[in-house]
Amino acid sequence: MTVTTPADRFDVGTLLTENTFLIGGRWVPAVEGGTIDVINPATREVLLRVPAGGARDVDAAVDAATTAFPGWRDTSPADRADLLSRWAELCRRHAGELDTLEAMEVGRPRQGGSPIPRTIGYIAGLADKVTGVTLPTHSPDVLGLTLREPYGVCGSIIPWNIPGKLMAADVAPAIAAGNTVVVKPAEDAPLTCLYLAKLAELAGIPPGVINVVVGYGADAGAALPAHPGIRRMSFTGSPETGSRVMAACARNLIPLHLELGGKSPQIVLRDADLAYAVPAIVRSLTFNAGQVCAAGTRLLVDRKIKRDVVAAVCDALAAVRVGPWYEPVDMGPLISARQEQRVLEYLDIGRAEGARVVRGGHKLTGEMFDGGFFVAPTVFDEVEPGMRIAQEEIFGPVLSVLTFDDEDEALSIANGTRYGLVASVWTGSVDRAIRLSRAVQAGQVYVNTMGSTDVIGAPFGGYRHSGFGRTMSADSILDYTQTKTLVLKGIGQGLAG
Ligand code: NAD
Repeated sequence: MTVTTPADRFDVGTLLTENTFLIGGRWVPAVEGGTIDVINPATREVLLRVPAGGARDVDAAVDAATTAFPGWRDTSPADRADLLSRWAELCRRHAGELDTLEAMEVGRPRQGGSPIPRTIGYIAGLADKVTGVTLPTHSPDVLGLTLREPYGVCGSIIPWNIPGKLMAADVAPAIAAGNTVVVKPAEDAPLTCLYLAKLAELAGIPPGVINVVVGYGADAGAALPAHPGIRRMSFTGSPETGSRVMAACARNLIPLHLELGGKSPQIVLRDADLAYAVPAIVRSLTFNAGQVCAAGTRLLVDRKIKRDVVAAVCDALAAVRVGPWYEPVDMGPLISARQEQRVLEYLDIGRAEGARVVRGGHKLTGEMFDGGFFVAPTVFDEVEPGMRIAQEEIFGPVLSVLTFDDEDEALSIANGTRYGLVASVWTGSVDRAIRLSRAVQAGQVYVNTMGSTDVIGAPFGGYRHSGFGRTMSADSILDYTQTKTLVLKGIGQGLAG
């Protein structure tokens, strides 16, 4: 079943075959025949029916990846680099489809391009540059070396919010280093991941190197880290699920990379340039309807300028156009009825805790909104650090405004949640910028900006409950290798011997 989406005429069925995922180079349905309807969250229309895989499908995918592993491991790294470059090139050629497909299933506005080609292209350039070292020795007749070797079959669990880039950022370094992979995309938004796998296949990446099993978390998701054939796991998603995945990895004694949630602070000092800060704060809140791990959802502002900053943020939010992705909008719906329910519950919690709604605070209604999961961008003022809306990741367009009187208080609030993914500092003072950015506990800190997309190869990942491990950087490929020390000792044979 495929549908043509109004106003754009983009038929998902021209890109993907209904009810199939990729195992060992074959596009197959789930063994037990279950299916999932992937919907457009702006309208609830079904975009494509996909298989609902389970443990038996994960078994088949791990078998296929295990079979493919020796050949892929022994493929010249230069040839692996060429294949990844071809994959990146195909993604570049089909960037429009990747952008639109992700917009359709996630509900975000189109971006007019895709970060995926560059993500894969960057890693492709590293594939033939993974090297070990020579080690100093106590004796001249001994040689000591390290080799960087792949683990084998790697498992990768992807969330629904930015599925394409997150899959590329995980799978590209894994296979560049010679591993094979089994990917479990999120049940709500698996289409971009399936299409990426199809482009990899078209690029000539051999069967079994990338396998994709779509399914619910409790079925295919839980089966993947529990499988004894998996040698390394990566998980991107919520801390609660991450903890379950970690327990499964502990039982199998395998390493794990965790990319989890955030409650990221935007610290606005008295000398901040609001002309830069306000648009960035608004963009961070509304991009992907706030369903971004790195969204800056806590606004920490100097008490003396709080009134002006809140007024400016509310004015800017008034200009944000909300609607379906195929209209000229800045913000789309939430991904699902479940996510909408969660966000609306947090709006009730915030009110009950005594915070004051100064913008939004409700579900959007009307002809354009009634078919989907639209919630107005919301600002809570008078939030106290201990409130749940200041502590818990809402994963929606909800901003909590907190005030501070000095830098120490700003820091204590900024570092006062269990998370530590990213943080922004807005100030005109280099001294304050240096002090605060050193002291904030976060994997990325931005000064007078938000996000690291202007930087090439910026390591991304969290402190504390935001996870551990880093992606998107030159070092990340090494995480997909294990180090072997090799000691070679001469035993006195002469040249003639
Ligand atoms: P989630 O944890 O509910 O699901 C993530 C993935 O895990 C999905 O594929 C899901 O099917 C699977 N899953 C669910 N239960 C499972 C289980 N028992 N065993 C194994 N897998 C299971 O998270 P979500 O709602 O899809 O995504 C939102 C969360 O992801 C937020 O917390 C967000 O901050 C985080 N996130 C983090 C990053 C990052 O890079 N740090 C990026 C994007 C999203």
